[in-house]
Amino acid sequence: STTRKPLLAGNWKMTLNHLEAIRLVQDLAFRLDEKDFEKADVVVLPPFVDIRSVQTLVDGDDLRIAYGAQDISAHDKGAYTGETSGSMLAKLGVTYVVVGHSERRQYHHEDDALVGAKVKAALRHELTPILCVGEGLEVRKAGEHVAHTVAQLLGALDGLSAEEVAKVVVAYEPVWAIGTGEVATPEDAQEVCAAVRAALASTWSPEVAAAVRVLYGGSVKGSNAGAIMAQADVDGALVGGASLDAEDFTRIVRFD
Ligand code: PEP
Repeated sequence: STTRKPLLAGNWKMTLNHLEAIRLVQDLAFRLDEKDFEKADVVVLPPFVDIRSVQTLVDGDDLRIAYGAQDISAHDKGAYTGETSGSMLAKLGVTYVVVGHSERRQYHHEDDALVGAKVKAALRHELTPILCVGEGLEVRKAGEHVAHTVAQLLGALDGLSAEEVAKVVVAYEPVWAIGTGEVATPEDAQEVCAAVRAALASTWSPEVAAAVRVLYGGSVKGSNAGAIMAQADVDGALVGGASLDAEDFTRIVRFD
């Protein structure tokens, strides 16, 4: 809040082919207006194969919608079959990249070291990493959610300068709230987002902590976005399911 511009990002996950992607971006462009973009940064995160089509549409129509990727290789070039490099993404006008989403940690065994290497790869190519952190249900039940989330944060940002960390976006996404319809309470979101900011302040500086946008993610929709966005340390939302619905995502962007 305060001086940080709100950021609303739609993670489409592995849905929508490039034609469906065009339709959704067109629908969003039709609904959103200048006032929305003055107030908030709006980002869509399509599958890799859709990015070129989204670029064409955004460039052709001068849309103020930013777009990003859902993952990035830790490497810059070479024999890494199936991977996508930061320079390839930058060439397509990508400005954001999700790093360390819980689905990648869970299904692709990404650990803090790899997630950290991907954050560095993003920064090397002047892409804004959206670093995802957050606890699972067992950790939450044990009351270890703050310690767990802060450890993931510091693990992934290890070795970065204050100047680099200031460019990162952090998304607090409790795993038990992702795709479950079970949204964290605004107080739960605030507790962990504030702890993330405090850890940034004590590890780097208060200025870094004040600059970094901390998002909440996990079953955000139009009807609950306002209460979550009202929290002092919540600067935006990373939205999965509801970002596929242009009407509801527009409501989230306006968080009214
Ligand atoms: C996500 O994919 O980051 C997410 C928060 O998903 P959902 O909004 O569907 O819970």
